[in-house]
Amino acid sequence: MTHYNNIAHLMDNFILPKPLGFGRVFLPIMFRARFAKGDWEPGELQAYAPLMLEPGAKVLHYGQSVFEGMKAFRVNHSNPHVFRPKCHWQRLNRSLTRLCMPDIPERLFFDGIAYITAYATEKIPPEHGQSLYLRPFVFATSPDLSLKNSTCYEFLVIASPSEIYHSGTMRVLIERDRCRAAVGGTGNIKAGGNYAAALHSARESEEKGFDQTLWLDPYSRNCIEELSGMNIFAVIDRSIHTPHLTGSILGGITRDSIIQLAKNIGYEVTETDMQIEALIEQIQSGQCTELFACGTATGISSISIIGEHDGKEYILPSASPVANHLKSRLMEIQHDKKDDQFGWCWTVADQYMPAELKQFITN
Ligand SMILES: *Cc1c(COP(=O)(O)O)cnc(C)c1O
Repeated sequence: MTHYNNIAHLMDNFILPKPLGFGRVFLPIMFRARFAKGDWEPGELQAYAPLMLEPGAKVLHYGQSVFEGMKAFRVNHSNPHVFRPKCHWQRLNRSLTRLCMPDIPERLFFDGIAYITAYATEKIPPEHGQSLYLRPFVFATSPDLSLKNSTCYEFLVIASPSEIYHSGTMRVLIERDRCRAAVGGTGNIKAGGNYAAALHSARESEEKGFDQTLWLDPYSRNCIEELSGMNIFAVIDRSIHTPHLTGSILGGITRDSIIQLAKNIGYEVTETDMQIEALIEQIQSGQCTELFACGTATGISSISIIGEHDGKEYILPSASPVANHLKSRLMEIQHDKKDDQFGWCWTVADQYMPAELKQFITN
C-alpha cells in the first residue's frame, strides 16, 4: 500500500454532494490491481483518475468485462460494514470463469473493498437507505485483435456514496420482442455486455413512461424472468413467488436474502415457473396483491403497474405490506439496527483502518 497520506488527503477534501442520487459521484480514490505473467499483483489505492488503455485492448472489442455491485454501510461505534461480501466475491469469480478471465483471490478482493471503505469511513452517508455503493470490476487489456484469451487484466474498485437507486414505486413494461439472455449464455453472470443488450428496451420503456423492462424467457416468451438489473417477486394468495433460476436469470444476492428473510418470518416462498398470462389474470382477479423488484442498488421496490406495448396496463394495489415488511427487515440488518442473525454483515477489519479514522469511530 502506497501514498497513504495522499489518499487520506484526497478523502479529507471530498465533499458529499446534495442531492446525492445514485452512482452519480465517485470517491476521489480507487483500488487497482493488474494481472500479468499469469498472476495478480497485490494492488493499491490510487487517486480516482482516467485510465490509460491501448485502443487495441480486448475489452473494447470483445467485451471481456465483468462487475459486481455491493454496499458498505456506516454504523455506530464500529468500523463500517459491508453486506455479504463473500457472496459477491464468489459471484464475481463465477462471472470471470464464464468469460475465461482469471479468478480474483479472496484476499485481493477483500483488500480492494476494505481499503476503499476504510478510507471512506467519514464520507459514507449515514442516513437510512444511504450507503457507499462499491463497484468492483475486471476487464481485459491485452492489445491484440485475435479471438483468443487476453493475457493481461485489471481489477478495479471504485465507489459512489449513494441513495437508494429507485425509491418510489416502479412502472414496468413487458418486453415481448427482444430477449436479455439465453440459457448457456451470460445472463446468469454480471457481464457488461448483458446491460448493453438491455439498453434499447430501456429507452423504449422510458419513452412510454415506464421505469424498467420486464424480460420473458427466450424460448417460450411465456415465463417472466427479471428486470434488467433486478429480480422480481409476486405475492399471490398471501404466499411469495419468484421465478426459479433457469440459467438465464441473474441470481441476485438480494433475491437470496429476501428468500431467507421471508422464510424466517414465516412466509411460504415458492421458486417456480411464472407465466406472464397467468400473472396478469392473478392481478386482474385480485389474487396477486403485490409485485416487487429487488437488487443491491434498489433494495426492495414495489411495482405499481405492469404494461404492454399496445397500451394495456395492469394495476397493483397501492398497499405493499409484504414488500414493506421485508424491506424494513433487510434495512434494519444492513444499518445494524437489528441483530444480524444470518451473519450477513462483514465489519471492515482494523488492519485496513487508517489511524485517524479509528479515533473518529470511537468518538
Ligand atoms: C445485479 C443484478 C441483479 C441483482 O443482484 P443483487 O446481487 O441482488 O444486486 C438482478 N438482475 C440482474 C440482471 C443483475 O445484473
